[in-house]
Amino acid sequence: MASIELQGVAHRYAASDPKYAVNWLDQHWQDGGAYALLGPSGCGKTTLLNIISGLLKPTEGKVVFDGIDMTGLRTEQRNIAQVFQFPVVYDTLSVAENLAFPLRNRGFAREEIESRVQEVLALLGMQSRAGQRASSLNADDKQKISLGRGLVRSDVNAILFDEPLTVIDPHLKWQLRTELKKIHQRFGHTMIYVTHDQTEALTFADQVIVMYDGSVVQIGTPQELFDRPQHTFVGQFIGSPGMNVLACEIDGADAVVAGNRIGLQRQISAAGVGLELGIRPEHIELSASEGIAVQIVAVEDVGKHLVVRTQLAEQQIAVIVQEGTPIPEHAFLKIDPAKLNLYQDSFLVDAGS
Ligand code: ATP
Repeated sequence: MASIELQGVAHRYAASDPKYAVNWLDQHWQDGGAYALLGPSGCGKTTLLNIISGLLKPTEGKVVFDGIDMTGLRTEQRNIAQVFQFPVVYDTLSVAENLAFPLRNRGFAREEIESRVQEVLALLGMQSRAGQRASSLNADDKQKISLGRGLVRSDVNAILFDEPLTVIDPHLKWQLRTELKKIHQRFGHTMIYVTHDQTEALTFADQVIVMYDGSVVQIGTPQELFDRPQHTFVGQFIGSPGMNVLACEIDGADAVVAGNRIGLQRQISAAGVGLELGIRPEHIELSASEGIAVQIVAVEDVGKHLVVRTQLAEQQIAVIVQEGTPIPEHAFLKIDPAKLNLYQDSFLVDAGS
Protein backbone atom coordinates (compact mmCIF):
# COMPACT_ATOMS: atom_id res chain seq x y z
CA MET A 1 0.00 0.00 0.00
CA ALA A 2 1.13 3.52 -0.62
CA SER A 3 0.18 7.12 -0.24
CA ILE A 4 -0.32 8.82 -3.58
CA GLU A 5 0.52 12.41 -4.30
CA LEU A 6 -0.30 14.39 -7.40
CA GLN A 7 1.86 17.48 -7.74
CA GLY A 8 0.68 20.09 -10.22
CA VAL A 9 -0.81 17.42 -12.49
CA ALA A 10 -2.48 18.54 -15.70
CA HIS A 11 -3.29 16.71 -18.90
CA ARG A 12 -4.42 17.49 -22.40
CA TYR A 13 -4.69 14.91 -25.14
CA ALA A 14 -3.22 17.09 -27.89
CA ALA A 15 -0.78 20.00 -27.69
CA SER A 16 -3.10 21.93 -30.00
CA ASP A 17 -6.04 21.43 -27.61
CA PRO A 18 -6.67 24.64 -25.64
CA LYS A 19 -8.70 22.68 -23.05
CA TYR A 20 -7.12 20.42 -20.45
CA ALA A 21 -8.99 17.20 -19.54
CA VAL A 22 -7.46 17.53 -16.06
CA ASN A 23 -6.52 20.96 -14.72
CA TRP A 24 -3.55 21.52 -12.42
CA LEU A 25 -4.24 19.26 -9.46
CA ASP A 26 -2.42 19.01 -6.16
CA GLN A 27 -3.78 16.10 -4.25
CA HIS A 28 -2.72 13.77 -1.46
CA TRP A 29 -4.36 10.37 -1.09
CA GLN A 30 -3.52 8.70 2.21
CA ASP A 31 -2.13 5.22 2.48
CA GLY A 32 -5.03 2.82 3.06
CA GLY A 33 -7.77 5.35 2.23
CA ALA A 34 -11.00 4.47 0.40
CA TYR A 35 -11.65 7.23 -2.11
CA ALA A 36 -14.31 7.77 -4.74
CA LEU A 37 -13.78 10.02 -7.73
CA LEU A 38 -17.24 11.29 -8.52
CA GLY A 39 -18.40 13.49 -11.35
CA PRO A 40 -20.43 13.64 -14.55
CA SER A 41 -19.40 12.05 -17.80
CA GLY A 42 -16.41 13.80 -19.38
CA CYS A 43 -15.21 15.61 -16.24
CA GLY A 44 -11.83 13.86 -16.29
CA LYS A 45 -12.19 10.93 -13.88
CA THR A 46 -10.78 8.23 -16.15
CA THR A 47 -7.99 10.53 -17.31
CA LEU A 48 -6.97 11.08 -13.69
CA LEU A 49 -7.17 7.38 -12.85
CA ASN A 50 -5.04 6.48 -15.88
CA ILE A 51 -2.48 9.09 -14.84
CA ILE A 52 -2.23 7.41 -11.44
CA SER A 53 -1.95 3.92 -12.92
CA GLY A 54 0.59 4.97 -15.55
CA LEU A 55 -1.56 4.27 -18.60
CA LEU A 56 -1.21 8.00 -19.30
CA LYS A 57 1.76 10.27 -18.68
CA PRO A 58 0.49 13.70 -17.59
CA THR A 59 1.34 16.67 -19.76
CA GLU A 60 2.44 18.49 -16.61
CA GLY A 61 3.29 17.59 -13.03
CA LYS A 62 4.38 14.58 -11.01
CA VAL A 63 2.84 11.40 -9.63
CA VAL A 64 4.53 10.37 -6.39
CA PHE A 65 3.99 7.13 -4.42
CA ASP A 66 5.34 7.13 -0.86
CA GLY A 67 7.69 9.98 -1.72
CA ILE A 68 9.05 8.26 -4.87
CA ASP A 69 8.52 9.94 -8.25
CA MET A 70 6.63 7.47 -10.48
CA THR A 71 5.79 9.86 -13.32
CA GLY A 72 8.12 8.24 -15.85
CA LEU A 73 7.32 4.64 -14.85
CA ARG A 74 5.05 2.26 -16.74
CA THR A 75 1.97 0.65 -15.18
CA GLU A 76 3.76 -2.67 -14.50
CA GLN A 77 6.48 -0.80 -12.61
CA ARG A 78 3.97 1.00 -10.39
CA ASN A 79 2.56 -2.12 -8.77
CA ILE A 80 -1.05 -1.11 -9.25
CA ALA A 81 -4.14 -3.24 -9.79
CA GLN A 82 -6.77 -1.73 -12.05
CA VAL A 83 -10.31 -2.96 -12.65
CA PHE A 84 -12.05 -1.62 -15.72
CA GLN A 85 -15.67 -1.04 -16.69
CA PHE A 86 -15.76 -4.16 -18.86
CA PRO A 87 -14.51 -7.64 -17.94
CA VAL A 88 -10.90 -8.50 -18.64
CA VAL A 89 -10.74 -12.30 -18.35
CA TYR A 90 -9.01 -15.10 -20.21
CA ASP A 91 -11.82 -17.18 -21.67
CA THR A 92 -9.71 -20.29 -22.10
CA LEU A 93 -8.69 -20.36 -18.42
CA SER A 94 -10.80 -21.51 -15.49
CA VAL A 95 -12.18 -19.13 -12.86
CA ALA A 96 -9.40 -20.09 -10.41
CA GLU A 97 -6.69 -19.85 -13.09
CA ASN A 98 -7.89 -16.37 -14.01
CA LEU A 99 -7.60 -15.31 -10.39
CA ALA A 100 -4.19 -16.92 -10.03
CA PHE A 101 -2.84 -15.26 -13.17
CA PRO A 102 -1.66 -11.93 -11.66
CA LEU A 103 0.10 -13.86 -8.87
CA ARG A 104 1.77 -16.42 -11.19
CA ASN A 105 2.95 -13.57 -13.36
CA ARG A 106 4.81 -12.12 -10.42
CA GLY A 107 6.31 -15.40 -9.28
CA PHE A 108 4.34 -15.91 -6.07
CA ALA A 109 4.86 -19.27 -4.29
CA ARG A 110 2.33 -22.01 -5.09
CA GLU A 111 0.93 -22.20 -1.55
CA GLU A 112 0.39 -18.47 -1.41
CA ILE A 113 -1.34 -18.46 -4.79
CA GLU A 114 -3.62 -21.29 -3.64
CA SER A 115 -4.57 -19.56 -0.39
CA ARG A 116 -5.16 -16.11 -1.97
CA VAL A 117 -7.25 -17.61 -4.78
CA GLN A 118 -9.37 -19.55 -2.27
CA GLU A 119 -9.85 -16.39 -0.22
CA VAL A 120 -10.99 -14.34 -3.22
CA LEU A 121 -13.24 -17.17 -4.46
CA ALA A 122 -14.93 -17.10 -1.06
CA LEU A 123 -15.28 -13.30 -1.17
CA LEU A 124 -16.94 -13.56 -4.56
CA GLY A 125 -19.08 -16.54 -3.53
CA MET A 126 -17.64 -18.56 -6.43
CA GLN A 127 -15.91 -21.51 -4.69
CA SER A 128 -18.13 -24.06 -6.37
CA ARG A 129 -17.22 -22.69 -9.79
CA ALA A 130 -13.45 -22.54 -9.37
CA GLY A 131 -12.85 -25.10 -12.12
CA GLN A 132 -15.37 -23.71 -14.60
CA ARG A 133 -14.09 -22.20 -17.84
CA ALA A 134 -14.43 -18.41 -17.90
CA SER A 135 -15.92 -18.60 -21.41
CA SER A 136 -19.05 -20.21 -19.94
CA LEU A 137 -19.70 -17.40 -17.44
CA ASN A 138 -22.27 -14.64 -17.93
CA ALA A 139 -21.24 -10.95 -18.07
CA ASP A 140 -21.89 -10.37 -14.33
CA ASP A 141 -19.70 -13.30 -13.31
CA LYS A 142 -16.96 -12.30 -15.73
CA GLN A 143 -16.90 -8.86 -14.15
CA LYS A 144 -16.77 -10.47 -10.70
CA ILE A 145 -13.64 -12.30 -11.85
CA SER A 146 -12.17 -9.01 -13.06
CA LEU A 147 -12.82 -7.55 -9.63
CA GLY A 148 -11.28 -10.65 -8.06
CA ARG A 149 -8.14 -10.25 -10.18
CA GLY A 150 -7.84 -6.73 -8.83
CA LEU A 151 -8.23 -7.91 -5.26
CA VAL A 152 -6.09 -11.04 -5.34
CA ARG A 153 -2.72 -9.35 -4.83
CA SER A 154 -1.97 -8.17 -1.33
CA ASP A 155 1.29 -6.45 -2.37
CA VAL A 156 -0.16 -3.70 -4.59
CA ASN A 157 0.39 0.01 -3.97
CA ALA A 158 -3.26 0.73 -4.76
CA ILE A 159 -6.34 -0.77 -6.39
CA LEU A 160 -8.05 1.46 -8.94
CA PHE A 161 -11.61 0.83 -10.06
CA ASP A 162 -13.02 2.52 -13.15
CA GLU A 163 -16.82 2.24 -12.96
CA PRO A 164 -16.47 -1.51 -12.32
CA LEU A 165 -20.15 -2.17 -11.61
CA THR A 166 -21.65 -0.49 -14.69
CA VAL A 167 -22.41 -3.76 -16.48
CA ILE A 168 -23.59 -5.56 -13.35
CA ASP A 169 -27.21 -6.39 -12.58
CA PRO A 170 -28.64 -3.83 -10.03
CA HIS A 171 -29.20 -6.31 -7.20
CA LEU A 172 -25.71 -7.81 -7.50
CA LYS A 173 -24.32 -4.29 -7.79
CA TRP A 174 -25.53 -3.47 -4.30
CA GLN A 175 -24.10 -6.72 -2.95
CA LEU A 176 -20.67 -6.21 -4.56
CA ARG A 177 -20.48 -2.61 -3.41
CA THR A 178 -21.07 -3.69 0.17
CA GLU A 179 -18.51 -6.47 -0.29
CA LEU A 180 -15.89 -4.02 -1.59
CA LYS A 181 -16.39 -1.83 1.44
CA LYS A 182 -15.86 -4.85 3.70
CA ILE A 183 -12.75 -5.87 1.76
CA HIS A 184 -11.35 -2.40 2.23
CA GLN A 185 -12.03 -2.50 5.97
CA ARG A 186 -10.39 -5.91 6.24
CA PHE A 187 -7.27 -5.47 4.07
CA GLY A 188 -6.77 -1.68 4.17
CA HIS A 189 -5.67 -1.30 0.54
CA THR A 190 -5.52 2.23 -0.87
CA MET A 191 -8.55 2.17 -3.13
CA ILE A 192 -9.73 4.73 -5.67
CA TYR A 193 -13.13 4.13 -7.18
CA VAL A 194 -14.32 6.11 -10.20
CA THR A 195 -18.04 6.54 -10.68
CA HIS A 196 -20.66 9.01 -11.85
CA ASP A 197 -23.19 7.39 -9.48
CA GLN A 198 -23.46 9.27 -6.18
CA THR A 199 -24.91 6.24 -4.34
CA GLU A 200 -21.91 4.13 -5.33
CA ALA A 201 -19.50 6.87 -4.29
CA LEU A 202 -21.18 7.67 -1.01
CA THR A 203 -21.56 4.06 0.12
CA PHE A 204 -18.04 2.97 -0.85
CA ALA A 205 -15.80 5.86 0.11
CA ASP A 206 -14.62 7.49 3.31
CA GLN A 207 -13.63 10.51 1.25
CA VAL A 208 -15.33 11.55 -1.98
CA ILE A 209 -13.49 13.70 -4.50
CA VAL A 210 -15.97 15.56 -6.67
CA MET A 211 -14.71 16.55 -10.11
CA TYR A 212 -16.24 19.07 -12.46
CA ASP A 213 -14.86 20.10 -15.81
CA GLY A 214 -11.35 18.78 -15.16
CA SER A 215 -11.02 20.23 -11.65
CA VAL A 216 -11.59 18.94 -8.14
CA VAL A 217 -14.33 21.09 -6.62
CA GLN A 218 -14.60 19.39 -3.22
CA ILE A 219 -13.12 16.61 -1.15
CA GLY A 220 -15.11 15.47 1.83
CA THR A 221 -17.02 12.80 3.66
CA PRO A 222 -20.47 12.02 2.27
CA GLN A 223 -21.97 14.06 5.15
CA GLU A 224 -19.78 17.10 4.42
CA LEU A 225 -20.75 17.01 0.76
CA PHE A 226 -24.40 16.94 1.73
CA ASP A 227 -24.31 19.58 4.48
CA ARG A 228 -21.72 21.98 3.17
CA PRO A 229 -21.26 21.82 -0.59
CA GLN A 230 -18.29 24.06 -1.43
CA HIS A 231 -19.61 24.66 -4.94
CA THR A 232 -23.18 24.85 -6.25
CA PHE A 233 -22.32 22.01 -8.65
CA VAL A 234 -21.63 19.69 -5.68
CA GLY A 235 -24.91 20.71 -4.03
CA GLN A 236 -26.88 20.00 -7.17
CA PHE A 237 -25.04 16.79 -8.08
CA ILE A 238 -25.34 15.22 -4.61
CA GLY A 239 -28.82 14.53 -3.30
CA SER A 240 -32.02 13.49 -4.95
CA PRO A 241 -33.25 15.97 -5.91
CA GLY A 242 -30.14 18.08 -5.48
CA MET A 243 -29.81 21.34 -3.58
CA ASN A 244 -32.01 24.23 -4.73
CA VAL A 245 -29.88 27.14 -5.95
CA LEU A 246 -31.68 30.49 -5.91
CA ALA A 247 -30.40 33.79 -7.23
CA CYS A 248 -30.55 36.36 -4.42
CA GLU A 249 -29.39 39.69 -3.06
CA ILE A 250 -28.25 40.37 0.48
CA ASP A 251 -29.74 43.22 2.49
CA GLY A 252 -28.36 43.33 6.04
CA ALA A 253 -29.24 40.02 7.66
CA ASP A 254 -31.83 39.18 5.01
CA ALA A 255 -31.55 37.39 1.72
CA VAL A 256 -33.95 38.66 -0.90
CA VAL A 257 -35.21 36.10 -3.42
CA ALA A 258 -37.57 37.37 -6.12
CA GLY A 259 -38.69 40.18 -3.82
CA ASN A 260 -39.20 37.90 -0.78
CA ARG A 261 -37.15 38.44 2.34
CA ILE A 262 -35.67 35.44 4.14
CA GLY A 263 -34.18 36.24 7.55
CA LEU A 264 -30.77 34.56 7.70
CA GLN A 265 -30.45 35.14 11.45
CA ARG A 266 -26.76 35.95 10.98
CA GLN A 267 -24.80 38.87 9.58
CA ILE A 268 -23.49 38.23 6.10
CA SER A 269 -20.48 40.08 4.78
CA ALA A 270 -20.90 39.00 1.14
CA ALA A 271 -22.16 41.64 -1.25
CA GLY A 272 -22.29 42.38 -4.93
CA VAL A 273 -23.35 40.23 -7.84
CA GLY A 274 -23.39 36.48 -8.49
CA LEU A 275 -24.96 35.66 -5.12
CA GLU A 276 -27.03 32.50 -4.71
CA LEU A 277 -28.68 30.72 -1.83
CA GLY A 278 -28.37 26.95 -1.53
CA ILE A 279 -31.07 25.08 0.34
CA ARG A 280 -31.73 21.34 0.30
CA PRO A 281 -35.29 20.12 -0.45
CA GLU A 282 -35.10 18.28 2.90
CA HIS A 283 -34.81 21.60 4.77
CA ILE A 284 -37.91 23.31 3.42
CA GLU A 285 -41.37 22.87 4.87
CA LEU A 286 -44.53 23.15 2.82
CA SER A 287 -47.14 25.26 4.63
CA ALA A 288 -50.74 26.32 3.94
CA SER A 289 -50.32 29.73 5.60
CA GLU A 290 -46.75 30.80 6.46
CA GLY A 291 -43.66 31.67 4.49
CA ILE A 292 -43.01 32.48 0.85
CA ALA A 293 -45.96 32.04 -1.50
CA VAL A 294 -45.20 29.66 -4.38
CA GLN A 295 -47.06 27.76 -7.06
CA ILE A 296 -47.02 23.99 -7.07
CA VAL A 297 -46.16 22.73 -10.54
CA ALA A 298 -45.79 18.98 -9.91
CA VAL A 299 -45.94 16.36 -7.18
CA GLU A 300 -43.81 13.23 -7.67
CA ASP A 301 -44.24 10.14 -5.54
CA VAL A 302 -40.78 8.57 -5.35
CA GLY A 303 -41.76 5.80 -2.94
CA LYS A 304 -40.22 6.79 0.38
CA HIS A 305 -41.51 10.39 0.17
CA LEU A 306 -43.00 12.98 -2.18
CA VAL A 307 -41.04 15.54 -4.17
CA VAL A 308 -43.09 18.70 -4.61
CA ARG A 309 -41.87 20.95 -7.44
CA THR A 310 -42.76 24.58 -6.86
CA GLN A 311 -42.24 27.79 -8.78
CA LEU A 312 -41.21 31.16 -7.35
CA ALA A 313 -41.14 33.74 -10.15
CA GLU A 314 -38.50 32.38 -12.59
CA GLN A 315 -37.01 29.87 -10.14
CA GLN A 316 -37.96 26.27 -9.41
CA ILE A 317 -37.75 25.03 -5.82
CA ALA A 318 -38.05 21.34 -4.92
CA VAL A 319 -39.37 20.33 -1.51
CA ILE A 320 -39.34 16.88 0.09
CA VAL A 321 -42.58 16.05 1.88
CA GLN A 322 -43.38 12.91 3.88
CA GLU A 323 -46.03 10.55 2.51
CA GLY A 324 -49.48 11.42 3.80
CA THR A 325 -48.74 15.13 4.31
CA PRO A 326 -51.63 17.16 2.85
CA ILE A 327 -50.59 19.28 -0.15
CA PRO A 328 -52.17 22.74 0.24
CA GLU A 329 -53.87 24.37 -2.71
CA HIS A 330 -52.19 27.69 -1.94
CA ALA A 331 -48.71 26.74 -0.87
CA PHE A 332 -46.04 28.59 1.10
CA LEU A 333 -42.47 27.59 1.85
CA LYS A 334 -40.89 27.78 5.29
CA ILE A 335 -37.13 27.72 4.91
CA ASP A 336 -34.85 26.81 7.81
CA PRO A 337 -32.35 29.74 7.86
CA ALA A 338 -29.77 27.69 9.74
CA LYS A 339 -29.54 25.36 6.73
CA LEU A 340 -29.06 28.08 4.15
CA ASN A 341 -25.69 28.27 2.41
CA LEU A 342 -24.65 31.37 0.51
CA TYR A 343 -22.63 31.17 -2.71
CA GLN A 344 -20.90 33.78 -4.80
CA ASP A 345 -19.84 32.94 -8.35
CA SER A 346 -20.79 29.34 -7.48
CA PHE A 347 -18.39 29.04 -4.51
CA LEU A 348 -19.50 28.85 -0.87
CA VAL A 349 -18.99 32.15 0.98
CA ASP A 350 -21.16 31.60 4.07
CA ALA A 351 -22.24 28.21 5.39
CA GLY A 352 -25.27 27.40 7.50
CA SER A 353 -24.91 25.25 10.61
P1 ATP B 1 -16.84 9.13 -18.40
O1 ATP B 1 -17.55 9.01 -17.09
O2 ATP B 1 -17.75 9.37 -19.55
O3 ATP B 1 -15.85 8.02 -18.64
P2 ATP B 1 -14.73 10.83 -17.43
O4 ATP B 1 -15.13 11.74 -16.33
O5 ATP B 1 -13.99 9.60 -17.06
O6 ATP B 1 -15.99 10.49 -18.33
P3 ATP B 1 -12.59 11.33 -19.28
O7 ATP B 1 -12.85 10.06 -20.02
O8 ATP B 1 -11.38 11.39 -18.43
O9 ATP B 1 -13.86 11.74 -18.42
O10 ATP B 1 -12.55 12.52 -20.36
C1 ATP B 1 -12.21 13.85 -19.99
C2 ATP B 1 -12.14 14.68 -21.26
O11 ATP B 1 -11.06 14.22 -22.08
C3 ATP B 1 -13.39 14.59 -22.11
O12 ATP B 1 -13.62 15.85 -22.70
C4 ATP B 1 -13.02 13.58 -23.19
O13 ATP B 1 -13.70 13.82 -24.38
C5 ATP B 1 -11.52 13.82 -23.36
N1 ATP B 1 -10.80 12.59 -23.74
C6 ATP B 1 -10.81 11.42 -23.07
N2 ATP B 1 -10.04 10.50 -23.68
C7 ATP B 1 -9.54 11.12 -24.79
C8 ATP B 1 -8.65 10.70 -25.83
N3 ATP B 1 -8.13 9.48 -25.85
N4 ATP B 1 -8.37 11.60 -26.79
C9 ATP B 1 -8.89 12.85 -26.78
N5 ATP B 1 -9.72 13.31 -25.80
C10 ATP B 1 -10.04 12.46 -24.83
